[in-house]
Amino acid sequence: MSASPLRFDLISLFPALFDGFLSESILKRAIDKELVAVHRWDLRDWAEGKHKQVDDRPFGGGPGMVLMAPPTVAAVEAVQAADDRPARLIALSPQGRRLDQDRVRELAGASRIILLCGRYEGFDERIFETLEPEQLSVGDYVLSGGEVAAMVVVDAVMRLLPGVLGDAESAIDESFGPDGGLEYPHYTRPREFRGRAVPDILLSGDHAAIARWRREHRR
Ligand code: SAH
Repeated sequence: MSASPLRFDLISLFPALFDGFLSESILKRAIDKELVAVHRWDLRDWAEGKHKQVDDRPFGGGPGMVLMAPPTVAAVEAVQAADDRPARLIALSPQGRRLDQDRVRELAGASRIILLCGRYEGFDERIFETLEPEQLSVGDYVLSGGEVAAMVVVDAVMRLLPGVLGDAESAIDESFGPDGGLEYPHYTRPREFRGRAVPDILLSGDHAAIARWRREHRR
């Protein structure tokens, strides 16, 4: 196992949104076992002035507010400097390339990933021009902020890291796995539910036949 685990840095105006996400289940276990590290940063800490302003009205008019370049760029540069390892910088954006399992696998090979979460109407364009982040979308719909999208990235990536999933939760034989396709149907107790029985073959103990059935029933 690598000496330094994959490090995520989450930059957000609402870092408390990650509280529950980081403190339950698989991700919590992975953090406790130092298989992954997750640091949170409050963008407002880099805001200037009495009002700690981070957003302002768009030039040219129109609805909503735009994240300002000075605090956002300052935040990212400070976070980049917080660790010697070079970091992949990713801005969550519906205009980015859409995330898929191939991209998740590729990200799982990184040593450090900074996720920049937008809010309101999004980022001042000069943030992109200055920092040149990768832009990543989690799907063709609009969220109210990048935090939920960042959770999608952290969740999908961390479960591929060595040691994170136990045997029972293995990432080998599942949807979008190395051989493509989607997973087969699962059943557990009871054997019959509202008149629907478990397929006999799964109760047969014939492992080769079960493997064949599962291959044939991939969706
Ligand atoms: N005005 C923008 C949407 C801004 S939504 C537009 O029309 O494209 C506010 C923030 O939520 C974005 O800056 C981004 O960080 C995040 N966000 C919203 N939808 C997202 C998606 N599908 N994928 C990733 N991030 C998203």
